Amino acid sequence: MLERLKEEVWRANLALPENNLVVGTTGNVSGMDRENRYVVIKPSGVPYKSLKQDDLVVVDLEGRVVEGKKKPSVDTPHHLYLYRNLEDVGSVIHTHSPQATMFAMLEQPIPVYNTTHADIFGVEIPCTPYVGNQADHIGKAILKYRKEGCPAILLGKHGVFTFDEAPAKALRASIMLEYVAMTAKGALELASTLRVKLTAMPPQEAKLWYLRHHGGGYGQSE
Ligand SMILES: [Zn+2]
Repeated sequence: MLERLKEEVWRANLALPENNLVVGTTGNVSGMDRENRYVVIKPSGVPYKSLKQDDLVVVDLEGRVVEGKKKPSVDTPHHLYLYRNLEDVGSVIHTHSPQATMFAMLEQPIPVYNTTHADIFGVEIPCTPYVGNQADHIGKAILKYRKEGCPAILLGKHGVFTFDEAPAKALRASIMLEYVAMTAKGALELASTLRVKLTAMPPQEAKLWYLRHHGGGYGQSE
């Protein structure tokens, strides 16, 4: 079980640079084994290029290293805070992906401007005010400002957290959030050039797209 989770977390970590969501060694993916209450997370400061599955660190919910020779990511306390407080979360990803971080720098949520955003997130991507990374400040801000059902949040002047039931899903939220931020930013610039107004989709319409995407009928049945 833990080996499979390690592989999923390792693959999702490697997918961050592949999808241009990170620079240098920033960013990290973790996954939780709910049965054993262990969390698998990226080690601190290891370049993605040389990251091996065995480099991942296993910690308990208090952050004590259970397995692994390396130090866990410096962001581990924020990941653990989310696992302790959100029962249905099985994976957490933190990045400073550039387009989404631009909105975070301005402490602006991203309204639902297109159907892709509505499909995946259903509501505007919320943004927390700026908080420092000491103690539980980041975890508490995420809990306070997150929106039910939305697997992503912007951290004021900082970056992005996504969280979902498994690493592949949290990764998809990170990738789609960057697409959503890129198209929102581009459309806002274009609207300014053309002197037209970009408007958000009505919330009830956004919800219909979200429900169709999440409630069956979309994709291939297994
Ligand atoms: Zn960060």
